[in-house]
Amino acid sequence: MNTYSRLPVTFVKGSGVWLWDDRGEKYLDALSGVAVCGLGHCHPRLSKAICEQASTLIHTSNLYHIEKQERLAERLTQLSGMDNAFFCNSGAEANEAAIKLARLHGHDRGIAVPTIVVMERSFHGRTMATLTASGNRKVQAGFEPLLSGFVRVPYNNIEAVAQVAANNKDVVAVLVEPFQGEGGVNIPEAHYLRELRHLCDQNGWLLMLDEVQSGIGRSGKWFAFQHSQIMPDVVTLAKGLGGGVAIGACMAKGAAAEVFKPGNHASTFGGNPLACAAALETLAVIEDEHLLEHATELGDFLRNRFRQQLSDVSKVVQIRGQGLIVGIELAVPCVDLVKKALERKLLINVTSEKVVRLLPAFVMQQNEAEQVVDITCLLIKEFLNS
Ligand SMILES: *Cc1c(COP(=O)(O)O)cnc(C)c1O
Repeated sequence: MNTYSRLPVTFVKGSGVWLWDDRGEKYLDALSGVAVCGLGHCHPRLSKAICEQASTLIHTSNLYHIEKQERLAERLTQLSGMDNAFFCNSGAEANEAAIKLARLHGHDRGIAVPTIVVMERSFHGRTMATLTASGNRKVQAGFEPLLSGFVRVPYNNIEAVAQVAANNKDVVAVLVEPFQGEGGVNIPEAHYLRELRHLCDQNGWLLMLDEVQSGIGRSGKWFAFQHSQIMPDVVTLAKGLGGGVAIGACMAKGAAAEVFKPGNHASTFGGNPLACAAALETLAVIEDEHLLEHATELGDFLRNRFRQQLSDVSKVVQIRGQGLIVGIELAVPCVDLVKKALERKLLINVTSEKVVRLLPAFVMQQNEAEQVVDITCLLIKEFLNS
């Protein structure tokens, strides 16, 4: 169906941060399939793990125990401090699980119309519940009636959440991204998550973090909430988790981990042996190759170099990010930059109309990062001067 306005290129092969199209042209990838291919393209260890699992056992069913799924749950809960995990196949599904969990938790506590606090400019997916939760009219328009049971407040504004607490006794949870990716690379104040945690504790709400984009190393830690020394009640994952193989997860802790009972939620494919083998190897490579440290250093390197090269460009509003997400906000809409970059054999993205977004693979080397900055800065300057 005609759901995408695609760029005029077809990639047929990839290695590390490089892609080749069907005419043999080589491209530098600074987007990683939108925060998915953290290990770069076809990391030898990931390809091998997938091949081996594919020739051993691909799929059984959640009617049975699945060894790799149990190991993956064990690993993710160790890394995060959460208690348990439900596996699905995408970010939207992971958030659907979180929303269902919050509603069931509310009903269990006698709240008839359980309500979830969500943010302006947020993005949680394209299913009916997750597009309702998303703070972007473009993803909602035409799909009314939307779901009830959500209240929306500005992002990075604790006072607005405190006001909801004072006025709405039906709230059961807050669903929030530790940083907003699709919404324009918005990094909240350092205390934001801690203050949200405090409000949730005071009111008996679940703090549910959408780490679909920020999780699995993207922020420079395994999970972005680990920058704030707090523990959430629910965390959702997808994008980077399988290194390119579709897998999502909804993790929970404490009372939230006890909400779902057999029959409450399910997925045919979720957590099958193939996807879990890919996720386990992705986590192992991140650890063995010290990619969290590298993501932190390379992210800082990228932002510093962008700041140096763009310091004299007045229409560059701000350069921001955390770990290996980089946002360059311009004063004018700049969606055309994506196509211009493609012509220069560089893959970047523009989100929220005015924010150039980079999501490089964690394996990107410094000389490759230098090329990304040089080409991007040239394009931005050309674009702003034309
Ligand atoms: C991409 C994204 C989603 C949706 O994930 P899908 O796998 O496309 O369903 C949800 N939340 C956030 C924060 C995302 O970045």
